[in-house]
Amino acid sequence: SSLFAPIALAPRDPILGITEAFNADPNPNRINLGVGVYVGDDGRVPLLECVKRAETLLLEGSQPLTYLPIDGLQAYDKAASSLVFGADSPAIAEGRVVAVQTLGGTGGLRLGADLLRGFTPAKRVWISDPSWENHRALFENAGFTVETYPYSRERGRELDFAGMVGCLSGLPAGDVVILHACCHNPTGLDLTPEQWAEVIEVVKARGLVPFLDIAYQGFAEGLDPDAAPVRAFAAAGVSMLVSSSFSKSLSLYGERVGALSVVTSDSAEATRVLSQLKRLVRTNYSSPPSHGAKIASAVLGSPELRALWDEELTGMRTRIRSMREALAEKLTALVDGEDFSFITRQRGMFSYSGLPQLVIARLREEHSIYALDSGRICVAALNSRNIDTVANAIAGCLK
Ligand code: PLP
Repeated sequence: SSLFAPIALAPRDPILGITEAFNADPNPNRINLGVGVYVGDDGRVPLLECVKRAETLLLEGSQPLTYLPIDGLQAYDKAASSLVFGADSPAIAEGRVVAVQTLGGTGGLRLGADLLRGFTPAKRVWISDPSWENHRALFENAGFTVETYPYSRERGRELDFAGMVGCLSGLPAGDVVILHACCHNPTGLDLTPEQWAEVIEVVKARGLVPFLDIAYQGFAEGLDPDAAPVRAFAAAGVSMLVSSSFSKSLSLYGERVGALSVVTSDSAEATRVLSQLKRLVRTNYSSPPSHGAKIASAVLGSPELRALWDEELTGMRTRIRSMREALAEKLTALVDGEDFSFITRQRGMFSYSGLPQLVIARLREEHSIYALDSGRICVAALNSRNIDTVANAIAGCLK
């Protein structure tokens, strides 16, 4: 029989299934709330003006398309890590931060996983329950056992901070903890600065390995405030990893622009870590693609483009927030006795709506409104034209 005959079919991506069902729906008024990208009021993924201008500059420069270094464009690596740690980061100034350009945030997570699994005793990773659907498979495929810590209650509408801290407080030294720095995917529930301080204390006291995932920097409150948890961890003096991404913040999804930053204890350690990261990259895909990294570093390196980016990011953030407020307000008006203010407290692109699966199914069948079975809706998929339809449909299905 054939070499590949014993290979079983891999499980389907649940989000892909929703997209397929949406695409096959003949209803011209169908609405897809299952997406994982930011779309503007016109329902389209934006091409940011700062990106367009950076691309024009790159075209005018007409540089040859040569290989990048194994660890990526140096200007990009510097810009990406100072965006998360802050321009005045002591850890960066002390030469303790290693930054490597990666294939999106996913690539940063995988490279960090390979570093931990190959070069440290870490064997177990803890992710939030629920978490981004790729976390578990990614770390399992890198050779880790993956467990979950409690994260939400009230069907995903509120944070279960006591449960989270209780779990982390019982973990053995060396276990890895994946933490969403802001705009938790899928719930939209974030920790307060005080809660972060408590988590940092526990992580430090237990000797856990923090691995921060920051894929939505700028979508909660702004570039600097959203990175505060990363900076607080760095200030606490723990060894840590950070995977960051420009997929959402620069709307550069297909360009695969992310970074892995590793905070080490001294510059000699940093040199050794970087040498092994480069080896991992070299034996995997050799070196990263250049176009997206050039765009990102052009934007970050120019005060004008950087200011324009800030403005455009503020526009995306403000639009999401106004959709949250509108949805919460409309649902509160339409549904008796239910409090929907949690929608406005959640942050980033997603909301765990807490809607039962039966309601999600009815929304799909009766209204051609597609959300994930978990109840996750993409708030960015709401716009001035569809918000009333969505609110009325949800209210109808709840009656
Ligand atoms: N981490 C989280 C929590 C995400 O939601 C995503 C993307 O959806 C990523 C990482 C990966 O992002 P990228 O597309 O840059 O690989």
